[in-house]
Amino acid sequence: MPQAASPALIDDLVIANHILVNEGVLDGFGHISVRHDSEPGLFLIARSMAPGLVQAADILACDLDGDVHDAQGRRTYVERFIHSEIYRARPDVMAVIHSHSPAVIPFGVTGQRLRPICHMSGFLGADVPVFEIRHAAGESTDLLIRNQALGQALAASLGSGSVGLMRGHGNVVVGVSIQQVVFRAIYTESNARLQSEAMRMGEIEFLTPGEAQAASDMNDEHLGRPWEVWKRRAQQSGF
Ligand code: MN
Repeated sequence: MPQAASPALIDDLVIANHILVNEGVLDGFGHISVRHDSEPGLFLIARSMAPGLVQAADILACDLDGDVHDAQGRRTYVERFIHSEIYRARPDVMAVIHSHSPAVIPFGVTGQRLRPICHMSGFLGADVPVFEIRHAAGESTDLLIRNQALGQALAASLGSGSVGLMRGHGNVVVGVSIQQVVFRAIYTESNARLQSEAMRMGEIEFLTPGEAQAASDMNDEHLGRPWEVWKRRAQQSGF
């Protein structure tokens, strides 16, 4: 029997589900997972349900083949292979978010690259890759990451980055903790919105790679500050 995950980690995962809905990153769809804190070959994720309604009892353990370990036989999301294959490919990754956050979608379909426009999104780095599912599975898929092979192709496209776009679908964000991955997902959406606005005004001066790295390092020291605000705001919204 695998060891139980810590209750504090499960609590944070539940809160993260609610924050991401409240901040407009997730809606009825999308998911967040965290690597199990004592079994690195497992990750924790909600059963297949709307993220805004997730409670601690809804959290399941899933292995890196995408098989759920649940005595009640419950299932998680079809697209669990996004999570399993990124955890397999990236031992440094401790948390993953897959969303359809709306402002990001245009950057996956136009050739306009998503780049860091301000210091809060330095984690985007020099370049955000776009995953083209047609290269892996042809021209008639439903765009979902439905199996291990597609998960591996997506993980390869992400490479060592923190954010990857999925053409005509959404994006994936990774981090070393729940707090960091939530921060990154919220500011990925915000950067996309700001970049779209700035593009209408003229040519954009983006952060240099050095600025992006320095700003990202700085923000990583203060992840608890916005987390507490987002948590309070989600609670006030009734989550
Ligand atoms: Mn999806």
